[in-house]
Amino acid sequence: MDTNPAINESVVHAEVLVLGGGPGGYTAAFRAADLGKQVVLIERYPALGGVCLNVGCIPSKALLHVAQVIHEVDEFEQHGLSYGKPSFDIDKIRSWKESVSKTLSDGLARLVKQRKVTLIQGTGTFTSSHTIEVKTETGVTTVSFDQAIIAAGSHPTKIPIFPHDDPRLWDSTDALELKEIPKKLLIVGGGIIGLEMATVYHALGSEISVVELMDQIIPGCDNDLVTPLYRRIKKQYQNIWLETRVAAIEKHKDGLKVSFEGKGAPESAIFDAVLVAVGRRPNGKKIGADLAGVNVDEIGYIAVDKQQRTNVPHIFAIGDIVGNPMLAHKATYEGKIAAEVAAGLKAGFDALTIPAVAYTDPEVTWMGLTENQAKQQGIDYDKAVFPWAASGRSLSLGRKEGLTKILCEKETGRILGAGMVGPNAGELIAEAVLALEMGADAEDVGLTIHPHPMLSETFAFAAEMITGSITDLYIKK
Ligand code: NAD
Repeated sequence: MDTNPAINESVVHAEVLVLGGGPGGYTAAFRAADLGKQVVLIERYPALGGVCLNVGCIPSKALLHVAQVIHEVDEFEQHGLSYGKPSFDIDKIRSWKESVSKTLSDGLARLVKQRKVTLIQGTGTFTSSHTIEVKTETGVTTVSFDQAIIAAGSHPTKIPIFPHDDPRLWDSTDALELKEIPKKLLIVGGGIIGLEMATVYHALGSEISVVELMDQIIPGCDNDLVTPLYRRIKKQYQNIWLETRVAAIEKHKDGLKVSFEGKGAPESAIFDAVLVAVGRRPNGKKIGADLAGVNVDEIGYIAVDKQQRTNVPHIFAIGDIVGNPMLAHKATYEGKIAAEVAAGLKAGFDALTIPAVAYTDPEVTWMGLTENQAKQQGIDYDKAVFPWAASGRSLSLGRKEGLTKILCEKETGRILGAGMVGPNAGELIAEAVLALEMGADAEDVGLTIHPHPMLSETFAFAAEMITGSITDLYIKK
């Protein structure tokens, strides 16, 4: 990363200071610069892009594509297509994955220069409500600022009783390094990170066991949308233990000995590696926020209003550090709001939903109200679930387990929520989000001509099931 030579001076001034160069931070910095502000962006790592681009979304998607290619080839053997047993060059796969991240972070460095944003590489800590100290490789730089946007992210949750000094105990960053393919891999946490990494390592040959505290995998999602994924991985993986937790992990010469407790608890067993993916923690306690007067709660979250302002009116916060869901697309949305408000525009968080996607195989995605939430809130809804077994496109992919579900307000037909499970389902959710944002009802979606044969048709078919105009299925009146 090129840094601006001007930063060697010990004091720099910023009209807008952005702390953290992840998707939220760089978006905020670029938007503020485009609105005419003089911006300083502080990032502790040499590459811009934060967790998402360097040790999260992007490298995981690169590895998940490898897994998808392997699975598709494997599965088409029964339909007459065979390339023989796949062989892996792990070093080459790793360097390809790294090249994808590097292409993107190099692109960001170019955007920084084009926008004349001053980039300082170092770790920033607030020293007052208008100053921050940055420890760089060459010394300390003090930045004074008129306004600041905190975008300092989160880190993986650690379970204190686990032996964190053992290299066989992984977090998501370790798992993405692809140092080795363990014979037996235990994944603690059946959430999105755990299941995405399970997909990768299973395709590369590991024997996978998953242990999940709750009574279903991906607990935030409706059970019917998760079931097709659960059924498929139940056959592929060695074990999926629900309502179970890890009681202890002991270091042994031949692996990590794990004991379990809870409803599904098995006997203790030895694993070659254990990936812990039980959520992430905000970095609010690591940035000297108290010296700036910014309130941070016990966990490390910073509370903000609809304009992303903290309790200190000229300091904003965005992304993982302000709360769940910890998703890049939420952070970028919030980053734009903070930058626009800092530049004097009238902006505020008024998105109706933040979509979620698990890039598993099949992918699982949802947006808006879930059925569980509709029930809890006593909302009167109509529901339709279109089975992908009736989708020509899905069958031509060799897959039939997918579902597209839509929830509509009973009285008006207005879309309240939607979800899909199936190969590439994640690509379909944006249409549902747009429909929700536009206040569309089921008829609007059903009367929108969708190209055939596409998986996106399934959203229109589900809408037609609500209006009663579906012809691709027979539904008894
Ligand atoms: P998560 O909250 O999605 O899942 C953690 C899972 O671990 C939950 O199912 C939880 O019930 C379980 N759990 C918690 N404590 C446990 C314990 N002691 N034993 C067994 N299970 C336990 O968190 P994550 O998967 O670590 O992901 C972290 C964040 O990153 C999330 O906000 C997630 O949305 C985000 N993320 C998103 C994507 C994506 O959008 N595709 C990908 C990766 C991560």
